[in-house]
Amino acid sequence: MQVKIYNSLTNKIEDFHPLHENKVTMYVCGPTVYNYVHIGNMRPVVVFDILRRLFSFLGYEVTFISNYTDIDDKIIKQAKIENLSEKEIAEKYIKAFEEAREGIHSLKPTYQPRVTENMDKIISFVKELVDKGYAYVTKNHDVYFRVNKIKDYGCLSNMKIEDLMVGARIDESEDKESPLDFALWKNTNDGGIKFPSFWGEGRPGWHSECVVMINSLCEGGKIDIHGGGFDLKFPHHENEITQEEAMYGHKIATYWMHNGFINVDNVKMSKSLGNVILANDYINLYGGNVVRYLLINTHYRLPVNFSNELVERASKELDKIFSAVNRLSIILQRNNLINDTLLTYKDEEMNNFILALSDDLNTANALSELYKEVKEINILMREKTKNFVKLSKKYQVINTMLYLLGLEFDFVKLTKDDLNLLDEYENAKLQGDFKKSDDLRQTLISKKLI
Ligand SMILES: [Zn+2]
Repeated sequence: MQVKIYNSLTNKIEDFHPLHENKVTMYVCGPTVYNYVHIGNMRPVVVFDILRRLFSFLGYEVTFISNYTDIDDKIIKQAKIENLSEKEIAEKYIKAFEEAREGIHSLKPTYQPRVTENMDKIISFVKELVDKGYAYVTKNHDVYFRVNKIKDYGCLSNMKIEDLMVGARIDESEDKESPLDFALWKNTNDGGIKFPSFWGEGRPGWHSECVVMINSLCEGGKIDIHGGGFDLKFPHHENEITQEEAMYGHKIATYWMHNGFINVDNVKMSKSLGNVILANDYINLYGGNVVRYLLINTHYRLPVNFSNELVERASKELDKIFSAVNRLSIILQRNNLINDTLLTYKDEEMNNFILALSDDLNTANALSELYKEVKEINILMREKTKNFVKLSKKYQVINTMLYLLGLEFDFVKLTKDDLNLLDEYENAKLQGDFKKSDDLRQTLISKKLI
């Protein structure tokens, strides 16, 4: 199946062609770990997790990288507030982020590089850019990238240097040649954590870390897909492209994918409006499935809305899926026909669902395909003479779909007692013993067996 991706670099839907046959490398900018992540931070975590699952399903060997920015001004500020070291702050919020990632059922990345573990590589990278004339050291011992040297600066964000220059100012504290130049190294003296370098003690700028990590982990310093939130397009991703091009003369990624924002009650979620929803709070309150469902029920490039009403609706929809598949699982278990093996891309029953996901990750349409299956299962289960072969296959189909979307359910595993109870109930009904069958029915309902 041909995967199609909306490439933010060309603003077109394109056929996906990997750099290396049957392999996909994906890099998604991870969080700056200075506080508890909000629900917006979870969107790329879910979107690119599903894309990764899709590629694996289609037979690709996937390398999925997502970094932790564990050096940043915000981390230093938070360390002072909480009276902890920067390392302790980073560890604390990495742990919270990983709880949220697991809580929302996203798989662990293949690599999770941290800035602190790549400091030598970042410093060498910056030095080489200085040696090549693409960067310069100021009187303050800061290092800046010389944007004017890159002709197609703005290629991702569709902005021209001339346009960017309009209204751009150099801050008094900065000693730059041009307002567009961005920091590769900052000589710091603010009491926060510092690292020795060729230019004095300081900290790296944010935009270099992803480039360095990609170059250190991926063959030829190139990846297939670079992802992140829409807000990272400029300047972060633009500056990643620019540095790679200056250093190695090629584009760092073939495809760029950006996910949309989160709205709360149809208003953009932002700190200043005080409507920020913390991921862990929401996941603990409503469960990972509900939050994940809300994130995938809308196409990843569009804004997603969160509201109490939508949470309620999502819970109901998920209950419908659970109760149908749970009932199917019970029928199959009673007949020794349960098959937990997931299907592969060769099974044509998956075609429409995979077609939806392959169409620029249309998770909303994939969910519609899932609903169709639920409907068919309900019809098949109502038939007097059940087609067990069909039912068994449907069980595999739906479980494969749920896996690809990252929706996780604990379907009832029947014990011997449960099986006896179900037999007793059926017999009571057949013999017309309504008192007994009613009593048993209540027990079975409470155990979610019918
Ligand atoms: Zn990045």
